[in-house]
Amino acid sequence: MSKTKRARRCLRRFQRSLLVGLVALFLCIEWGPLSDERARRGIASGNPFVKEIALTFDDGPRDRGMPELLAALKSLDVPGTFFLVGKFAERYGSITQSIDAAGHEIENHSYTHPKLYTLWVEKIMREAERCNEVMANLAIRSPRFLRPPGGGFNLKIFYALRRMDMRMGLWSVNTADYTGRSAELITADVLKSTRPGSIILMHSGVPATVEALPAIVTALRERGYRFVTLQDLWNNGAI
Ligand SMILES: [Zn+2]
Repeated sequence: MSKTKRARRCLRRFQRSLLVGLVALFLCIEWGPLSDERARRGIASGNPFVKEIALTFDDGPRDRGMPELLAALKSLDVPGTFFLVGKFAERYGSITQSIDAAGHEIENHSYTHPKLYTLWVEKIMREAERCNEVMANLAIRSPRFLRPPGGGFNLKIFYALRRMDMRMGLWSVNTADYTGRSAELITADVLKSTRPGSIILMHSGVPATVEALPAIVTALRERGYRFVTLQDLWNNGAI
């Protein structure tokens, strides 16, 4: 083989390795490391040995149903964790502030409610950051948890969260209250599925949810449960 041929083959091999290396580097940057990082970056339920649970409300604030929900939580003396959509929080600024003023926890549910897992890391971060900016403009403390719309997530979201120093806030009991189910069905499901550390997924502005709350709270308190925020569950040893 001539020297030129050998040199060309060498060059091609080098180019191929360079390409593989660059692709690997890109994947590392885009998706980030796995395992431990993921465990420290999210919560799907609290400590399984402590009878504490969190009620979480997605998709608010709404133009309807919020005063009723806030009144129900107040009369039951239960703290809620609200995953708000940034653009709605911006539109209904005074409702957002009233959620905060009532002592509930406000967290991040993106700015426009897209399927975050379909976006690139930079876009995912922008969605979360814009929601945080809305809260900052309303003088509300910065959210620490992000709940991806629809609950769909991938490694890109974990990587974005790490860069923003935020955490994923998922759930362990889905009431499916957005499907138009009755208050009785919602109550029965929650009472059947709740365990120590449960994070219960509900939605803002759903009349059946508001109707179900007194029965849920009373029955679970009788079983010895205490209602806390998501941040409390995290602080008390999430899994
Ligand atoms: Zn949602």
